[in-house]
Amino acid sequence: MLTGSCLCQAVRYQIDGPVDDVSHCHCSQCRKAHGAAFASYGHVRYAHFRLLSGAEAVARYQASPQATRTFCRHCGSNLQWCPTGNAEYFALALGTLDDDPGVRPQRHLFVASKAPWYAIEDRLAQFAEYPGADQA
Ligand SMILES: [Zn+2]
Ligand SMILES: [Zn+2]
Repeated sequence: MLTGSCLCQAVRYQIDGPVDDVSHCHCSQCRKAHGAAFASYGHVRYAHFRLLSGAEAVARYQASPQATRTFCRHCGSNLQWCPTGNAEYFALALGTLDDDPGVRPQRHLFVASKAPWYAIEDRLAQFAEYPGADQA
């Protein structure tokens, strides 16, 4: 069982299942949404995710035709990246976890869009976009 919350604690959630496919995403949307060099996300099944509080605080932003991002309307914490038309899983903003999910980042995504002021210095796999996409 994992728990997480937003910065102001209005939104609190619980995950009763694994976090998979952990990536650092360097795309421009993640950089802007998180105000950071990259965003760290892991896949979580909707069936394993439960809001404990703050359902009314969760705001949604359709960032692209491919995905909707959720965040706390009070403090701005990024919470989820929800792929359009996928009812099985979403990507959880791992910075909101209060517990250790056990898994560790496996790859860097959208490296072709990364911030010029940030140098990747670990040995994780890097993808220009994402695995399976044409490499830029
Ligand atoms: Zn909040
Ligand atoms: Zn991204």
